[in-house]
Amino acid sequence: MNGCVFCKIVKKEIPAKEVYRDGEIVAFRDINPKAPVHILVIPVKHLEDLSKAGPKDRELLGKLLYSVKEIAAGAGLEKSGYKLISNNGIGSGQLVFHLHFHILGGWQKKPEWQV
Ligand code: AMP
Ligand code: ZN
Repeated sequence: MNGCVFCKIVKKEIPAKEVYRDGEIVAFRDINPKAPVHILVIPVKHLEDLSKAGPKDRELLGKLLYSVKEIAAGAGLEKSGYKLISNNGIGSGQLVFHLHFHILGGWQKKPEWQV
């Protein structure tokens, strides 16, 4: 979509540290990481957020989530664990309106919010 920064990454119009790409999914390092490992996983198809997905996107959404699992494992997070976040809509703090999952992990010790 015109002006969408993640569509530009999909089209390789702007650089990104990609960790995975196929015809439907792209994953890359967050430019402003909030964890030692911070990867964004996005569909190639421009969907603003999860609420904009329709019945025809069911298969894509399944693939997206399964890719998250594999990409997290590929980043070495399978054993240590990770946090998965998807902001949906302005009230959630979403800044980039192209559906994405944040994979956050790689802390050496338990983060403060973990007891
Ligand atoms: P959200 O608040 O869920 O929309 O988060 C958007 C995320 O995209 C933020 O964590 C940003 O740091 C990240 N981001 C924005 N522009 C880029 C970019 N060009 N390359 C990589 N990550 C980006
Ligand atoms: Zn987009």
